Amino acid sequence: DLSLQRAKQTKELNAYVTITEDVAETHGIESEKRFYIYKRPKPLDGVTIGIKDNFCTSNIATTCASEMLRNFVPTYDATVYSRLRRAGACLIGKCNLDEFAMGSGTVDSVFGPTRNPWSYDKDKWRIAGGSSGGSAAAVCSGSVLAAIGSDTGGSTRNPAALCGVVGLKPSYGLVSRYGLIPLVNSMDVPGILARTVDDATKVLNVVAGPDKNDSTTIKRDYEPITLRDIDLSKVRIGIPKEYYCQGMSREVVECWSYVTDLLENEKAIVKSVSLPHTSISLAVYYILNQCEVASNMARYDGIEYGLRANANSSTEELYATSRHRGFNNVVRSRILAGNYFLLTKNYVKYFVKTLKLRRLIVQDFQKVFHKVDGVDLLLTPTTLTDAPLFEDFAQRTNRDQCALQDYCTQPANMAGIPALSIPIQLSRNKMPLSLQLMGPPLSEDLIMNVARKIE
Ligand code: GLN
Repeated sequence: DLSLQRAKQTKELNAYVTITEDVAETHGIESEKRFYIYKRPKPLDGVTIGIKDNFCTSNIATTCASEMLRNFVPTYDATVYSRLRRAGACLIGKCNLDEFAMGSGTVDSVFGPTRNPWSYDKDKWRIAGGSSGGSAAAVCSGSVLAAIGSDTGGSTRNPAALCGVVGLKPSYGLVSRYGLIPLVNSMDVPGILARTVDDATKVLNVVAGPDKNDSTTIKRDYEPITLRDIDLSKVRIGIPKEYYCQGMSREVVECWSYVTDLLENEKAIVKSVSLPHTSISLAVYYILNQCEVASNMARYDGIEYGLRANANSSTEELYATSRHRGFNNVVRSRILAGNYFLLTKNYVKYFVKTLKLRRLIVQDFQKVFHKVDGVDLLLTPTTLTDAPLFEDFAQRTNRDQCALQDYCTQPANMAGIPALSIPIQLSRNKMPLSLQLMGPPLSEDLIMNVARKIE
């Protein structure tokens, strides 16, 4: 009840697309009974959660914040949601996002932008980050204990960083994508937002593990993470010099060196390392993103799913009008660019070449995480600045917004490695500043345990 009340009190943040009041009450009663009457609690009994509105939830609208799916009500649950349900969690609502998760600010939603709970002054307010901005704002403002986001190029870590909460992008394949409406299949992962590393870990322990409905999940049984006090003197932490880049604010750099010193004082082995292909990563990400978007969005033809325009002179006209009305400019321009890169004459020149460049980025990480002469983890900023003012951010094109916000986050998606954003301190604007820890595939246990020492 308190969570529902809080969700309603904080409505002006626009964190939710739908508040699932009836569902929350049913879940709440079930978990209370288990807890007090049957004395057989489940791991997340009574824990309130929010889920980004690009995860399917049966009988609950799943809109992707798009006109195209405004009235779409799925008939099945995403695996993350069914696992959370099974563990006793109570769904408070579906959270706002950039349309189809394409963005870095939660400013491009048909339901309007989400505001950052740290700054919601009527005139001069700051963005929550994106595209899982609704999930981050819901956790930050206290209407849920944890929320699920998705992370294709940083969409969980980025809003977590700007709202001052913890944001985990797990290893690719550790958490099932079944029921997550795809953006870039080869990079998408469900993400977890929570107030503490410990809370995020508890949620991960419930949602992770193989799923027969997602053939890309890692087949090995999931070994739950145990939270413990680890000895940092055995941990080697790399500071990749290429992540220090143009546009990074002085405060972010200071915050980064403050935590580096802190780790050194705790006797961690800290060294400077190089990931030489970082500067091409963003361009590679966007080409691949647009190619996969072009192919994923083909399903929205006005016939099988979603919006159907009232245009019946020909099937082609029906497709074109439905897609024009259903998608915003950002989605449409990515479809166009993606289809251009995939044209027969361009396929090898752009798509195949970019896949090769992606391989170089993956190899950078493989080398830096080498067992003998590499490091165990990397420490970098999550974003280049604190949360921008909405009026400044909204003036930029989507492409520019993403270039600014995704520089430090998207390489991890390209390599499929885990990454965690941890809030550190406040900027002069009294906004959160956060750092990111990355590790080799399936190093969540180490990441979470080191992060506990930093938070
Ligand atoms: N900003 C990136 C994009 O628009 C990341 C999106 C995401 O991670 N969902 O593609």
